[in-house]
Amino acid sequence: MKNITIIGGGLAGLSLGISLLKRSVPVTLIEAGKFPRHKVCGEFMAGVTQDTLRELGIAEHMKDAGMLRTTAWFYKNRLDRKEALPRPAIAMSRYTLDNRMAGEFRQLGGDLRTGTRFPVEDNGPGKVWASGRKKGKPIWLGLKVHCQNFPLQSDLELHLGNYAYAGASPVDRGRVNVCGLFRRRPEIKGEKANLFRLYLEACNMTSLAERLDRATIDPESISAVAGIDFTPLHLSDDRLCLGDQIGMIPPFTGNGMSIALESAAIATDPVTAYANGKECWTVTIKTINMRIRKRFRLRLNLSRAIHPMLYHPGCQKILVMANRARLLPFQTLYNYLH
Ligand SMILES: Cc1cc2nc3c(=O)[nH]c(=O)nc-3n(C[C@H](O)[C@H](O)[C@H](O)COP(=O)(O)OP(=O)(O)OC[C@H]3O[C@@H](n4cnc5c(N)ncnc54)[C@H](O)[C@@H]3O)c2cc1C
Repeated sequence: MKNITIIGGGLAGLSLGISLLKRSVPVTLIEAGKFPRHKVCGEFMAGVTQDTLRELGIAEHMKDAGMLRTTAWFYKNRLDRKEALPRPAIAMSRYTLDNRMAGEFRQLGGDLRTGTRFPVEDNGPGKVWASGRKKGKPIWLGLKVHCQNFPLQSDLELHLGNYAYAGASPVDRGRVNVCGLFRRRPEIKGEKANLFRLYLEACNMTSLAERLDRATIDPESISAVAGIDFTPLHLSDDRLCLGDQIGMIPPFTGNGMSIALESAAIATDPVTAYANGKECWTVTIKTINMRIRKRFRLRLNLSRAIHPMLYHPGCQKILVMANRARLLPFQTLYNYLH
């Protein structure tokens, strides 16, 4: 049996690792960071099915996760509309989820090497790149905090600001995740702890900033990420990529985590066949890429087209008016985006 090396211990890498180990495939997983740790993420998982979770053998880890059923839209600091989510979304922090999955990976006998960065140029058969988003130009900035004493007006709040949007939703351990995506403004400088507030104010989301002021923020959870790239599906014939490595979906969809898990599920059988010596690596990559293209291309392209509507002030106005007049085919769009 051939050994598989997975680069990246996020949801894509860990879930693939667990499902391969459960099929008796030996796996080494190289992760640059450590567990547990916070990641910039809205931490609401929309679109993933119980079938995918069961197929990967990870459903158990989300058994106690919260379910988000309602959403409230805020525009210019005012509550604009409340509605039900077409399907409930899963709410769980990456701090908990990634750590649980890393624990199971170890328990199953996987070789998990943390604090180790794998060289990007070291490619070859049996290597799976689940190393997260590709670095883009520093146009976007993602910020996240966990807090307590932050009453919510629905399960999931979505706030539109100038060249920014933010979300708030409950996660485990009685906390609320507040996460935002902002067009970077080099003129805004500050300590990590202060940066979120400064950006919220600068982007006309003052009521959210004030609510954060009144909340109790977990200082360890304050996280930031820059250089986010939303280029379309990017697949290579000589490198097997999963999760954000194939192309990052804009975060408003809450579908990035699902794509990470779905792509791992797509890869499991072909990678197992390669490890068993039944298929060569080139054909394995081709088979997986074909399935990934079929599953995600429309989702990624459509979300990239909608993305500017959420952050550009002019487009936001049109979006909000259409939403108020109930002209937005919310359910249909949701189905295509998940
Ligand atoms: C602001 C923002 C909000 C978001 N909100 C949501 C949301 O609400 N819902 C949702 O579903 N998605 C959301 N996402 C997207 C979601 O976080 C990602 O799609 C998801 O984390 C992808 O998982 P992954 O396993 O592909 O990558 P990651 O979780 O990024 O894991 C990749 C791992 O690889 C490691 N790594 C990288 N390079 C190397 C190397 N050379 N060697 C070893 N290790 C390496 C990294 O340390 C990292 O741990 C959001 C993203 C942003 C930026």
